[in-house]
Amino acid sequence: MSDSIEIGSNDRVFVLTGAGVSAESGLPTFRDNNGLWNGYPVEEVATPEAWAEDAERVWRFYGMRRRDALTCQPNAAHFALADLERELEERFFLCTQNVDPLHERAGSKRLIHMHGELFRSRCERECGRGDFSDERIYQSASEIPRCECGGRIRPHIVWFGEIPMEMDRILDELDRCTVLMVVGSSGMVHPAASFVEWANRRRVRTYYIGPERPLNSVSFTQILLRKAGEVLPGIFRVSQSG
Ligand code: NAD
Repeated sequence: MSDSIEIGSNDRVFVLTGAGVSAESGLPTFRDNNGLWNGYPVEEVATPEAWAEDAERVWRFYGMRRRDALTCQPNAAHFALADLERELEERFFLCTQNVDPLHERAGSKRLIHMHGELFRSRCERECGRGDFSDERIYQSASEIPRCECGGRIRPHIVWFGEIPMEMDRILDELDRCTVLMVVGSSGMVHPAASFVEWANRRRVRTYYIGPERPLNSVSFTQILLRKAGEVLPGIFRVSQSG
């Protein structure tokens, strides 16, 4: 099999990205750190239980992640996906598991952050105020702002045990795609890890790109075992015919 991905005029492309797409920008993946994030086990910082137990610790963790993400830049993989979107327009859809803003910084627009966004916050009570843009760093419990309703402001992140965002739109796009491309996602976090199985029910062409085999590797039509930033630029062959 060749190292190119053919996209015809009738194709619709669905791309799922995971932490691996941002690795070459200097943001560590989950697995790079033996399952620790900035030294913390996830259950201490990325679950509703952790928030209930120690909101200050949770915000300190997301403060560190905000600091890391503020200074890093999109890499060649983010730019290649933004370029592909410009060519395909509404026949392209990007779903990321990442909470960093690197896809947007590269120019992606048809994009959903299924696990939330690092630089947005919202009320813990889901009082209807909605999420808002927030780059601040909260170091202590007393700095955590309150909503008008009295609830504490929390990160706009889907924690383990919570339901991913915009699943209706994601499933709709999955139902319509003819090509599914998964980039830098270990195949361990569901429901994202199931997308390839759902696509296979409709005989969609499925590709995985990343340096290691994901857990769900048997489900893909083709696996390209290389770094995303090395593979994605120049891999797409977009043609005007079928
Ligand atoms: P993961 O950390 O479990 O796995 C990362 C995957 O990326 C691995 O399979 C690894 O082989 C691959 N990878 C490493 N370097 C790569 C590269 N240069 N190019 C392509 N692939 C590369 O991540 P996950 O599967 O996305 O699941 C963990 C959860 O934690 C997800 O929700 C994820 O988005 C989140 N997370 C997000 C960020 C972020 O927003 N940048 C960082 C860490 C974890």
